[in-house]
Amino acid sequence: MNTSGAPVVGRILNIQHFCVDDGPGIRTTVFLKGCPLRCVWCHNPESHVASDEIMYRADRCVGCGACASACPNGAHTFDVEGKHLFDRLLCTKCGKCTKACLVEALETVGESKTVDEVLSDVLSDRVFYETSNGGVTISGGEPTAQPAFTESFLTACKQEGLHTCVETCGWCKPENILALAPLVDLFLLDWKLTDDTLHKQYTGVSNTLIVENLARLCEIGARVILRCPLIPDINLTEDHLDGIAALANRFSSIEQIDLEPYHPMGIGKTNALGKVAAYTNDTFLESDRAEEAKAFIEKKVSIPVTVSGK
Ligand code: SF4
Ligand code: SF4
Repeated sequence: MNTSGAPVVGRILNIQHFCVDDGPGIRTTVFLKGCPLRCVWCHNPESHVASDEIMYRADRCVGCGACASACPNGAHTFDVEGKHLFDRLLCTKCGKCTKACLVEALETVGESKTVDEVLSDVLSDRVFYETSNGGVTISGGEPTAQPAFTESFLTACKQEGLHTCVETCGWCKPENILALAPLVDLFLLDWKLTDDTLHKQYTGVSNTLIVENLARLCEIGARVILRCPLIPDINLTEDHLDGIAALANRFSSIEQIDLEPYHPMGIGKTNALGKVAAYTNDTFLESDRAEEAKAFIEKKVSIPVTVSGK
């Protein structure tokens, strides 16, 4: 409940079950919608804005016309050759077309849910947490961008005795992340680019606040795993890999480094949102390049370095 007694509501992108890459054991990951960063390689571009969005995947469309019949605003039309045209300027995001589309070429992303609704979903997996030493992870989007929901949800998780992880970009008001710390067993904190000019260029914000918040977490003894995306032509450089190692050596609370090889899933989703991808590399990062990066960092740190998906 908030101070007026109303249930606390979060903007939710997705609740994903049986996750094994978002913290220890088997986990349920709650993805929130809304993020202050705009990383050009983002594989979840549908999490950027908090409001509802309509995704249209042209490759799934069978041209049945059900969406055109359902839309009160004439946003879906077909040209003389039968090509489906979607005029987003006419769309009020009412969701009628997404319900009418039987092949899921249209989808509404984003919903509002109360803490109790999300908790009830999460608790349905409790047996798996208990048998695997898993728990719940709140991710994004950016959990600290919805401080009231995230704090209330984690409080409820702790009351249920669940292990909690927060995956965060670290770019938030210090009080937001510090308020969460007592409720979080493990932070999964992203470190994307060491060079601040490049950080601003490729994510939209400076990394100074992120380092400051990392220092604050370390001061209070929070446990942290550093999560580092490996993006060809952007941060897969010796300078940045050195920077990852230097950060890990500077802060004793960092207990592990997870390297996350680039995958191009975000490009199709960006197109489906009617947006233009800023980074259009459509190939997965080769596993030997990720292993080389891992070996490079391992020589400079005394904590485990992993490659996600392995
Ligand atoms: S969401 Fe509503 S307004 Fe938008 S295209 Fe679909 S039916 Fe039309
Ligand atoms: S309802 Fe779905 S499959 Fe049918 S025309 Fe519209 S988008 Fe295509």
